[in-house]
Amino acid sequence: MALTMVKKRLANGETCRKCAQAEELLKSRGLWGRVDKIVWADEADPSSPGMQLAARFGVDHAPFFVVDEEGTGSKATVYDSVLKLIKERLGGEPRSVIETKREAGDAQRDVGDDEIEAASRDLAERHPIEILRWGLDRWQDSLGIAFSGAEDVVLVHMAREIGRPFTTFCLDTGRLHPETYRFIEIVRKRYDIAISVMSPDSAALESFVRKKGLFSFYEDGHEECCALRKVEPLRRVLRTLSAWVTGQRRDQSPATRAALSPIERDSTFSGAHGRLVKLNPLARWTSAQTWKYIRENDIPFNPLHERGFVSIGCDPCTRAILPGEHERAGRWWWEETTKRECGLHVRGSAPGSS
Ligand code: SF4
Repeated sequence: MALTMVKKRLANGETCRKCAQAEELLKSRGLWGRVDKIVWADEADPSSPGMQLAARFGVDHAPFFVVDEEGTGSKATVYDSVLKLIKERLGGEPRSVIETKREAGDAQRDVGDDEIEAASRDLAERHPIEILRWGLDRWQDSLGIAFSGAEDVVLVHMAREIGRPFTTFCLDTGRLHPETYRFIEIVRKRYDIAISVMSPDSAALESFVRKKGLFSFYEDGHEECCALRKVEPLRRVLRTLSAWVTGQRRDQSPATRAALSPIERDSTFSGAHGRLVKLNPLARWTSAQTWKYIRENDIPFNPLHERGFVSIGCDPCTRAILPGEHERAGRWWWEETTKRECGLHVRGSAPGSS
C-alpha cells in the first residue's frame, strides 16, 4: 500500500494546526516514516493537488489520509482521522516493532551481497521513497545523500518526509553556477538540514591549475579536473559513511546508465567500515516523473532548469540544450557520449567523473 497525507496550507502560508498535530503524533509513535507522500491543499488555491483530492473523495477538512491499497491508484481508502488510521492500518504492523528493537549500533552495520540483491529485486518496482526508506532504516545518518544542486533535491525532500536522520553532502568543485550555490542554500534552509559542502584538496588543485590552467578540460578531456574537483572529495566524504544515495536515473544516459540498479554494492569507493552500498532510488523514474513529483510536492528547484539546463554540473562544462536534444548533450558536449561521466559513478575499479 502507499499512504498519502493531505495537509492544509492556510492562506497566510502556515500549516493548519491539526495537520501539524497529526504529524507530531505519527512521529511520536515512530510511524511518520510510513507516510509515503505529503500533498498540500492550499486554502487559497482550489486547483492545488490536495484540494483536488479533497473534492474527489468528498472530504471537507484536513488532515486526511489516502491509502492506495495496491499502489496503482485504482483502489483507495480514505481516513479522516489520524487515530483511526493508526489503529486500523499502522498500529500493529511489524515495521514499528523492528524500529523499536533496532539498536543504535545497528545503523552502522554492513549488509551482505545476498541482502543487497534481494532488496534490489524486491524494491525494483517500488516508489523511490521505499528504496530510500530501506536505506535509512539500516543506516540512518550513516547514509549520505549526494545532492548536486539539480533534480536530486527530490531525494532530500523524500528523506525529510520519512523523518529519520540522514546526512547530505555536496561536491563544491569551485566551478558551479552562482544559481547552484544559491539553490544549495535555499535547500539547506527549506529543509533545515546541515549540508557538508566538500571542497577539493587545495594544494593539489593549485598545482594542477598552475600547470594546466583553468580550462584544460576543453583540450585533453575532463577526467583530470573531475578527479581533483569531484572524485577525491567524494572519496573523502564516503569514507565517513556506510551507504550513499545518488539521483542517477536510467533515462539520463542510455550510453552509460541503462542498466542502473536501484541498490548495488559500490565497487569503486570504500566506506567507513570498508564496503559501501550505493542506492539509486530514482533509477527507473523518467525525467517527467521526477518533475511531476517536484511540482506536486512544491519542491524548490534550481532556476537554471527554467533556462534550458536539464542536467546541471559545473558552469564551464554544462550548457542549455535545445528541444529534442538528449539531456546528456548538455554535459561535456565536446567529448564522446560514452565518456560523459565524471568518475563518481564508474563501475569497476577505476574512478573516472557526475
Ligand atoms: S565538470 Fe568540468 S569544471 Fe567540473 S570538475 Fe569536471 S572538468 Fe572540472
